Amino acid sequence: MNGTAGHGVAVHVDGCGKTFADGTRALLPATLDIARGETLVLLGPSGCGKTTMLRIIAGLEVPDEGGRVLFDGKDMTSVPIERRNVGMVFQSYALFPNMSVAANIGYGLKVRGLPKEERAERVAELVALTNISGLENRRIDQLSGGQRQRVALARAVAIRPGVLLLDEPLTALDAALRERLRGELNRLLRALGITAIYVTHDQSEAMELGDRIVVMSKGAIAQVGTPREIYFTPRNRFVAEFIGAANIIEASVENGHLLLPGGRQPITSHVNRAVVVAMVRPESIRLAEVDAAALTGTISSVAFNGDRQRLVVSGAADKPLTIDAPNTVQAKPGDRVGLSIPPEAVRLLPLED
Ligand code: ADP
Ligand code: MG
Repeated sequence: MNGTAGHGVAVHVDGCGKTFADGTRALLPATLDIARGETLVLLGPSGCGKTTMLRIIAGLEVPDEGGRVLFDGKDMTSVPIERRNVGMVFQSYALFPNMSVAANIGYGLKVRGLPKEERAERVAELVALTNISGLENRRIDQLSGGQRQRVALARAVAIRPGVLLLDEPLTALDAALRERLRGELNRLLRALGITAIYVTHDQSEAMELGDRIVVMSKGAIAQVGTPREIYFTPRNRFVAEFIGAANIIEASVENGHLLLPGGRQPITSHVNRAVVVAMVRPESIRLAEVDAAALTGTISSVAFNGDRQRLVVSGAADKPLTIDAPNTVQAKPGDRVGLSIPPEAVRLLPLED
């Protein structure tokens, strides 16, 4: 569709760990494959090693002995950042404040010696793609935060990077703007077909933007998968609780049922273990008639959120259960309710941690 589209390399991270000079093990040796044109999201709580992983891919950090970074099969481990052809966008915009928007976007092209007309053409294309038409001659310090981040993105993409690296680019913006820019960014990444690695601690951002998500915890990869895989089949409790809301239930199992204080909940697994840890998402639980339901409990709180309501039900499981109910359901604290959970919505998790 345009001259900027369809660029990108496949990235292979091979056994890259990072121990800093002070002994901090920021990253345990990790291996990752990022396909050409794919958007891969690194997701995890603060301090889990996301930025370190991104900086190793960028060439800003050298991995520990044995780690390698390959672009399209070519070993880049000892290639400096300026020769890796990466585009970077950070939380702080890192733009030249007293240069115009157009000069900022075209900066990398100028450094690379692109002729003036070609530069102007590419800048115009990116200005349109990032929705900042009309701002070309403004100085950076005359822009809002959202506009600055659009300029930063346009500048990073202008050089036609083999891989675009984004480190929490929306975190500094307010919630409404963050959501809007997220949608725009998603559209832009798809339109460009560029290989992108996106770091965030925000799970809804990760869900929307990622073709695949890498969930990280304490310097290690906890799970890699599509947003659906991560959401519906989390590998462990950490992933289950980090992505979306999760009810974690401990119970014993008998003949394909969880034995709970509020009744017997059927499950699809036929393990016969004394204790299991199970996960149920709040939207998988429905209110039902008390007499007909496998599980019963008592509503302890109701939070009306407009598009839905979040109920807490006590007495059904070992801990209060959180339930997302339609906004039309009539429910109040103290009501006795039946609960209906499809057996396949109960996911057993390993008994670790
Ligand atoms: P994230 O981006 O997930 O928040 P980082 O990759 O920035 O995490 O950091 C991972 C861990 O490494 C943290 O404990 C952090 O304090 C530590 N760390 C990061 N950079 C350095 C450094 N230059 N020297 C020592 N420790 C560091
Ligand atoms: Mg970080």
